[in-house]
Amino acid sequence: MRSFDTVAVVDWSARVGPSSPRPSQDAIWLGVARQGTPSEPRYFRTRKDAEDHFVSMIEEEAAAGRRLLLTFDFPFGYPRGFAKALTGSDDPFAVWDWIAKEIEDKQDTERSNNRFEVAEEMNRKFRGLGPFWGKPDPDGWPGLPYRKAGISYDAIPEKRKCDEVAGTSSSCFQLFYNPTVGSQVLMGLPTLNRLRALPGVSVWPFQKHDSADVVLAEIWPGLIEAAVQEEAGDAIRDAVQVTRLALALSRLEPDKLKSMLSNLPNEAREEAWILGAGEAEVLTEQARGELSVPIPSRGRNSHVAGVLIPLKPPPLRDDCFALPAGVDWTPVDAALGLLRERLRCVVGQERVPLAQAGGRVLAAPVTARRANPPEANTAVDGYGFAHAGLGAGDQVLPLVDGRAAAGVPFAGVVPKGHALRVLTGAALPEGVDTVILQEDVTLGEGRIAFRGGLKQGANTRRAGEDVAAGAVVLEQGRVLTPADLALCAAVGLADLPVQARLRVAVISTGDELVEPGAAARAGQIYDANRPMLAALVRQMGHEPVDLGRVADDRTALRAALDRGAAEADAILTSGGASSGDEDHVSALLNEVGAMAEWRIAIKPGRPLALGIWRGVPVFGLPGNPVAALVCTLIFARPAMAVLSGADWSGPQGFDVPAGFAKSKKPGRREYLRARMRDGCAEVFKSEGSGRISGLSWAEGLVELSEGAAEIRPGDPVRYIPFGSFRGE
Ligand code: AMP
Ligand code: MG
Repeated sequence: MRSFDTVAVVDWSARVGPSSPRPSQDAIWLGVARQGTPSEPRYFRTRKDAEDHFVSMIEEEAAAGRRLLLTFDFPFGYPRGFAKALTGSDDPFAVWDWIAKEIEDKQDTERSNNRFEVAEEMNRKFRGLGPFWGKPDPDGWPGLPYRKAGISYDAIPEKRKCDEVAGTSSSCFQLFYNPTVGSQVLMGLPTLNRLRALPGVSVWPFQKHDSADVVLAEIWPGLIEAAVQEEAGDAIRDAVQVTRLALALSRLEPDKLKSMLSNLPNEAREEAWILGAGEAEVLTEQARGELSVPIPSRGRNSHVAGVLIPLKPPPLRDDCFALPAGVDWTPVDAALGLLRERLRCVVGQERVPLAQAGGRVLAAPVTARRANPPEANTAVDGYGFAHAGLGAGDQVLPLVDGRAAAGVPFAGVVPKGHALRVLTGAALPEGVDTVILQEDVTLGEGRIAFRGGLKQGANTRRAGEDVAAGAVVLEQGRVLTPADLALCAAVGLADLPVQARLRVAVISTGDELVEPGAAARAGQIYDANRPMLAALVRQMGHEPVDLGRVADDRTALRAALDRGAAEADAILTSGGASSGDEDHVSALLNEVGAMAEWRIAIKPGRPLALGIWRGVPVFGLPGNPVAALVCTLIFARPAMAVLSGADWSGPQGFDVPAGFAKSKKPGRREYLRARMRDGCAEVFKSEGSGRISGLSWAEGLVELSEGAAEIRPGDPVRYIPFGSFRGE
């Protein structure tokens, strides 16, 4: 076998829409090495760009007389039996053809590929649920289960033989949540199918490859994970993986590589094989060592092949809140609009008795079982009669024996021209439609006397005048108030359908944090955010799940996020959310490819990191307690409300006279710690964002809109009491 001159490793991506112009994790990366020397990793924003590059690379390598091993990090085949069930043939290429024909991939816009529809189509070829599962929307694509639970992998195994040998954790049937290997296969095989048609290309291990100029093969970067983890700094993980794996493969002894390419079990013929499966140690050894090329890093001036961004010292700033040049800041309202548009309820439902329903989110509209009041009754203590039996002028009516009281109705009929003693709340007996207040009558000898001029129906309540039977009294999504419970009880309801409580994990991050009350060394501070955030979560009607403190350590944070995703419906972290060396929250969210770093034009509040970790939304709040509180109230509160099934609602603010003067610069929306005194909003003496005492001093926030403002005492400003941010 001729040895390979060039080894290329591709980290594929199934992402929807182009990845960011700045090199990032969630994108396609290519690492290339020749004769043990790596070149700088390359980055592609779309699958189309990447494929075009592979085609020209194949041509160029052939023209230069070099033999190319071009490898991809997704399965080339499905578990045994799948090909036959889908296509009627064992030939893995029949699967490639089938998928290439079905998949539509326009990566230029959002939602532009049909992979979930195609998976539904494939699922139809199998009995029972699955084998494909995972989707972004539990209500979409009915032919595709949302979760794996309930799928039996009896007829077709869940994993391939090589997955077992290599110890991969993923399945090619999983289409959503990381790892989304299943989606990568669907969005990758069409490209491979086109590449295999090029002259000189053969696919390992399906075709003879000994003499092919170009061999396409499957790899798995997990085999060299130990070497990747040793990479210092915040280099982009995918870029490290592809570079080091290409290096390792090109450093292998030709005989070693040859033996990895041969000696395969039978299953490989249909399922394909991971090159080097079972040889993690050898590969890791070769992947180690100083790299002679720069690897782009996150959040910094980056150096990527073809794009040199010069390193410059940062410009001086007037104050630490000045907006960095050239950065796009999302206005608060735009950020809120996006949250509102993208989030939806994530919790289940249950029925609870009224006594437990206060503060809960109504899961369905409530209709009145009976009217309120259910029957006409008297609103006062007095005497009832038929209005039609009255003559003109002053009245004298004989009393009927007996009385009507609340809960003790009068069973007889009151004849015209007669009256009956009635007490507040008593149902009006037959013959009574009007009541006179007892203070307005003279009583004597079995008769009452009173002045004329009373209107028909006076002092009575009509049946259903408040609520008609069958009327909708409360809408779904409402957070139930004490008064709502009274209403529900009155119209005949004993229990209500409510959303399960949203569980919200709270995690603090930072090496400097210690538990309140513990001994603190120099440089250490007490974790102030966790008790505050847990209490806020509870006040908003959710269930806090305290996951403690995590050091600035990626492994520990990953474990904490995993736990949060397993035990909660949403995760609030504080600290480490911007893009510094120790900002591991944003780094990790970035790594799983679901991170959006939101630079929101708000003060206080450094970048907010929003992302999805194992399907669970994460709000990466700033570490600073003042900023953490403001960001929670302004962003996390309405977002968590929607996740909990409640309606979106902005806090109620009031225009009040300012009790202060301030000159505000344009750019960001500002929130000042404030309280109402003597009819004016006064603000805390310092805007310093480290001043926790000012948070505690405040009873609300003054909101100043984005524009510049010159505020003088007495000018109207918007004051939002903290009470407006509660759940109800
Ligand atoms: P970070 O966002 O991690 O850069 O933190 C910003 C500032 O907030 C630093 O001064 C941190 O020490 C401080 N900080 C972070 N987390 C907490 C916390 N849980 N309690 C009090 N201060 C914190
Ligand atoms: Mg920190």
